Amino acid sequence: MIGEGGQQWSRKVLDSWFRRVPAGNLDSRKCPPKFSTQRFMKKFASSPLILLLALVLYPMPASPVWAESNEQISVLLIDGQNNHNWKVTTPLICQILEGCGRFTVDVVTAPARGESMESFTPAFADYDVVVSNYNGQSWSEVTQKAFESFVAGGGGFVSVHAADNSFPQWSAYNRMIGLGGWKGRSEKDGPYVRWKEDQQRFTRDQTPGGGGGHGQRAPFLIVVRDTEHPITTGLPSSFMQAADELYDKLRGPAENMHVLATGFSAPATGGTGEHEPLLMTVQFGDGRVFHTTLGHDDTSMKGVAFQATLQRGTEWAATGVVTLPSVDAQVLTSDTAAMRDPDDIAPDALAEMPKIEGLGWVPLFNGKDLSGWSQKNGIATYRVENGIVVGKTAEGSPNSFMCTIKDYGDFELTFEVNDDPGLNSGVQIRSLSKADFNNGRVHGPQVEIETSPGESGYVYSEGTGRGWITKQQPIKDAYVNGKWNRFVVRAKGDRIQTWVNGKSIADIRDPESSMKGFIGLQVHGIKRDTGPFEVRWRDIRVRELK
Ligand code: ZN
Repeated sequence: MIGEGGQQWSRKVLDSWFRRVPAGNLDSRKCPPKFSTQRFMKKFASSPLILLLALVLYPMPASPVWAESNEQISVLLIDGQNNHNWKVTTPLICQILEGCGRFTVDVVTAPARGESMESFTPAFADYDVVVSNYNGQSWSEVTQKAFESFVAGGGGFVSVHAADNSFPQWSAYNRMIGLGGWKGRSEKDGPYVRWKEDQQRFTRDQTPGGGGGHGQRAPFLIVVRDTEHPITTGLPSSFMQAADELYDKLRGPAENMHVLATGFSAPATGGTGEHEPLLMTVQFGDGRVFHTTLGHDDTSMKGVAFQATLQRGTEWAATGVVTLPSVDAQVLTSDTAAMRDPDDIAPDALAEMPKIEGLGWVPLFNGKDLSGWSQKNGIATYRVENGIVVGKTAEGSPNSFMCTIKDYGDFELTFEVNDDPGLNSGVQIRSLSKADFNNGRVHGPQVEIETSPGESGYVYSEGTGRGWITKQQPIKDAYVNGKWNRFVVRAKGDRIQTWVNGKSIADIRDPESSMKGFIGLQVHGIKRDTGPFEVRWRDIRVRELK
């Protein structure tokens, strides 16, 4: 196949370059002599037009190393030789890292087995962290030295699964990974390192014997042995990994090595009966190394356990800290392996609008009467008509609110609303009415409702004097006058999100307001000699979160 020649290319650059085909200045970028046609076909085969364009314009321009944002960690992922299917697993590692929004990944593919390695000279120093999905021939001495300098000088390194089989003769590499397996490894390479449950500590065993093995592939429990390391803080203390190889009998110098988690290598599946190291960190000079033995194949890489530890370990290797969100024990459980398609990894789990179909929704309005609700403050009238709550203004009345008797904390809310032109309305969330606050004045966040052009969907702090909580209000037209408009609201922690007719309107943090309170339908007071106006609601449903 074309393109195993050791050239470095950037997935991001490929993407942006194709977007820029009509206007791009192709001459300003160097052309890599080769690139991976297979990977390229796979990535773009779904779009025949783009594929055609690409093939017409091949060879394509490369760019210097991608450095789009200081916020993102730059990763160089190495593949090209492996006794495992790296053509399948490399794209998955890319998705796992890039999907969470913290990383940009470039892939460098080493020459195929048997070819000269002299041309393989990745620009390690241009990256924050190198991730190895490589298990193959030795690199040139120049490349080995460059890699040692990179890591010893403070670069990050992540060894994934069979990368720890590589380079049995390369002393510095074996000190980086701490423990390795196969390829003649034995007592000459260092001890076995195991957790002893009866002693509650790790032991180093110099017994003669081979290095590297595994039982049958099966799901297994990962037990965290250091819950205070940045990589493991925020993870449950034990959690299941998807079916994977549980490496055993690894041997190595184990210098400056810290085992974060172990797995019991069960004799029933051909294992050693030992608690074997699964996740490790190693200090190498000024560089940080994260070593995961997980990740045999695509199934294992669908395990959230693999994904979360790879993301966190890679961030830590690059920066020394972990800022990625913690993973709840509800997600990463200790009885069943949580699975997630790497395609589905998103930087923000709450970015999407809640689906208004599905389980868990509870109607707040029975369509017949206002049982479960009570009116507060003004004297606007509320009646029920054909399954619709109709609010009607009353001259001289202050703002009126029809409020749920029940309080809600974290929830998703949806309703449809049709408002007369000229009437300001809204739906209160997490709101309060207390005798000792302005004589029971309803106050709290209000999701604004008004005819277009207006601020529908933005969040106002009703009754507090704070004014708008949503400081910026660029969208003025998601509301359609004279029709039913679908509103969706999510309140979770201090975050409030709103959508109007499927369009995201507000996404704010509001730590000042109450985190719990009633939901209320507002009919605004009106000016003298105006109105009456009406506002109608229907299909009011709530889904409590957690
Ligand atoms: Zn394997």
